[in-house]
Order: sequence, then C-alpha cells, then structure tokens
Amino acid sequence: MTAPSVAIIGGGLSGLASALFVRDDRRFGEVAIFEGTSAVGGVIRSHVEDGFLFEEGAESMSRVRPAAVALCNRLGVPLMPARISPSATQVVIDGKLVALPSGLEIMAASSYWPLVASPLLKWADRWDEAQGEAAADPVPSDVTARLSQLFAAPVGGMGAVVDALQEELTDVSIRTDAPVSLLRPEDGKWLVGAAGIVPSHYDAVIVALPVPAAAVLSAQVDPGLAAELGEVRSHSVVSVNVAWRREDVPEHLHECPGFLVPEREGKLISYCAFSSSAWRGRSDSAHITLRVLARGDGSLLALPDEELFGAIWAELQDLLGITAEPRLRHLVRHPWALPDFDIQHAPRLGRIEDRLVRLRGLALGGSLWRGPGMSNVIESATRAVRKITGDLEPWPDPV
Ligand SMILES: Cc1cc2nc3c(=O)[nH]c(=O)nc-3n(C[C@H](O)[C@H](O)[C@H](O)COP(=O)(O)OP(=O)(O)OC[C@H]3O[C@@H](n4cnc5c(N)ncnc54)[C@H](O)[C@@H]3O)c2cc1C
Repeated sequence: MTAPSVAIIGGGLSGLASALFVRDDRRFGEVAIFEGTSAVGGVIRSHVEDGFLFEEGAESMSRVRPAAVALCNRLGVPLMPARISPSATQVVIDGKLVALPSGLEIMAASSYWPLVASPLLKWADRWDEAQGEAAADPVPSDVTARLSQLFAAPVGGMGAVVDALQEELTDVSIRTDAPVSLLRPEDGKWLVGAAGIVPSHYDAVIVALPVPAAAVLSAQVDPGLAAELGEVRSHSVVSVNVAWRREDVPEHLHECPGFLVPEREGKLISYCAFSSSAWRGRSDSAHITLRVLARGDGSLLALPDEELFGAIWAELQDLLGITAEPRLRHLVRHPWALPDFDIQHAPRLGRIEDRLVRLRGLALGGSLWRGPGMSNVIESATRAVRKITGDLEPWPDPV
C-alpha cells in the first residue's frame, strides 16, 4: 500500500509549518504545497533596501505563546531579544499621544502585536478591562528585563524563517504561481486543481489560507462550511516602513517605542513601532526607522500608493510632529489578512468542527482557530496535521 499523499493549499507560515509537521509524521508519502503567488511566506516578508531591513508583515514573536520561537530554534534561526526602550509606550486619546499608565508599560513596542491582533485593540472603550488584565499579569519589579525576554525577532529578519522552512522542506514539492481553484472529493480522495496544473488526487488536504479564501474554496466541498467561514469578518492592513535621518527626528522620539491607536479615534493608523528602538540591525545609527500599520477595507487598498501614503503620512505628522520628508519609505498592502473575531466565533468554530468531522482527510489551518499571530497559526498547523492523521487511521475491526 502506498503512503498517503497530502496537498497543502497556501504557502504562508501555516502551510509551510503544516508541511514540516506532515513530514515529521513518517507515515505520509508525497507532500505538495500549492501557493497562489510567485513566492512562499504569505504575509511574512523582509525587504532589504539601502542597508535597512523593513518587515512587511510580522516583526516580533512572543515567548508567551512559544510555538514560533520553538520553530525558529528547531530550524536554527538565530533570534535576538527586543531592546526595550526606557520611555513609555503611548496611546492616542482624543488625537493626542498619552503615555500608558503605570502597570501597562508591559505593552512595549515589540509587544504591540498581541493587542493589534486581538479584540483588545478596541480596549480604549474598555479601559478598566484592559487594566484589569494587566493587573492580573504579575509584573516583576524589573519590567525591562522581563520584556526583553518576552519578545524576540530573527536576527536576519522574519524572511529568514521562511528561507529556513524552505531549506528544510527539500522533499516537499512546492508549486508557486499555483492558485488552487478546484477542491472536491472524488473516488474516496480529494481532487485538487490549480491554474496551469493538471488536477491530481490526494488522500488528505490541509487548507492553509486566509479565512476569506478558505470560504471561497470550500464552497465546492460543503456550502454549509463555506457559509460558516464566510461569516468571519476580516480586514486589510497596509504596512508602511519609514526611515529618517536621525537629525530630522525630534530628540524625544529617538528612543520612543511607539504608540497604539484605538479604533474609536477614527484614524487609519492602528499601530506604530519604532523598529530602530526595538531591534538591533534594522538600520544604522544615523537613522531612525519606524513601521506603521493602517487598517482598512478594500477602498483603502484601492487608493494609489501616493494617496495612500499621503493619508498615513498626514496622520503621522500630526501625531509625531516630524515635518522632514523621510529618506526612504516602503508600502505594502495585505488584503483581508486579519480576521476580526466576534462574540459568535466560539460557537461558529464548534459548528465548523462538526462539519469537518464528516469531511475525512480535510483540515483547515491558518488564523481561523486561534487568530492571527505566528504562534497561533503554527499551533493550527499542528492541529490540522493531527486531524488528517486521525482521519487516515484505519477503523478498528468490529468485534
Ligand atoms: C502587517 C502584519 C503584521 C503582523 N505582525 C505580526 C507580528 O509582529 N507577530 C506575529 O506573531 N504575527 C504577526 N502577524 C500575523 C502573522 O504574520 C500571520 O497571522 C501569519 O503569518 C499568517 O500566516 P498564514 O499562512 O495563515 O496566512 P498567509 O500568510 O496569508 O498565507 C496564506 C497564503 O495562501 C496563499 N493563497 C491564497 N489563496 C490561495 C489559493 N487559492 N491557492 C493557493 N494559495 C493561495 C497566499 O498567497 C498566501 O501566501 C502580522 C500580520 C500582518 C498582516
């Protein structure tokens, strides 16, 4: 009997991690990744320009949820701790930057991500709740030391994680420019077809796509599943990296960690971190760099680059008071990259699981289960591999 074959749809972090974990389970045979664009990595990309390293997607990983750090350790990707700035993280309230109150300094620049990705981003509406959470987390006296242990980034940028995964997956067929448009059960297997590739049958399939893309593809498999996935709202993100000459930036910002913008402020910018403060080697000492995330929908993404940058730039100028033109800027769009979980998400996941039980050999990975975040999608990859492994176990003989 030939070893079961697996197709993985989507070559982002969750697809690549799924392939690694499938490979770890030696019972599987052929493993193929289908990636719709010309390169794997999904939203994780490092851009190097003129000596600067700009992260287009993820920039830090937390040790609180250690799956991403553990993956880097396994792959031999060297990590560095965050440099924690002594100045306070700030938050925008009524259009002005305000230092976070004592006890919330745990939200240093590199720790913004968990907030950006969580419903807590709306936390200014729930200030007491947020403070309660911070209080529940015992903050040792040496906050700085603790923070620098909590957050890490690959020395060579996040792209190094993607490169290392690709190097590890030499026996996996990685097909790029292969957007999958066909997925359906046929003859006890799964038929998978991508543009320009003759459809093939696989014993198992892991769909490692952003939720909106998973919803579209699953319509051919189970319209009820597609409807549940279609109920999950997502938003788009624009990531802008900017570098200034140090002398062009007011001195009080040189060690600034960054700031958060609650949704109710009605701004495009949701988050800003000074990468030159938080990470070694992202720029030279003559420059200050920062990365801004702006959240929006399709209409924001449709704006031409100049207009989009202009709108974000106006907000930055207003908040930071930097008037000098940047030396460099780098703008990237991530359409519908981040899901917004609502209160209905937990029961929805239960219904999705019930449907998947009936779809033997099919698993969903990505940010659906635990939300975005590198560790979350890696954990979802583990879960997806466990699902297909269980599905392919032979049923015990009736006694
Ligand atoms: C701007 C930004 C900043 C972030 N910062 C952090 C951070 O600091 N720390 C952190 O932990 N997390 C961060 N995240 C979240 C984290 O990076 C993501 O949750 C994670 O990388 C998502 O991986 P994924 O594989 O699930 O999805 P994706 O990276 O979206 O990958 C999905 C892949 O599927 C492909 N695809 C789509 N449709 C098809 C199709 N039909 N056929 C084949 N392929 C298809 C896409 O091209 C893509 O390559 C950030 C995310 C963004 C967008």
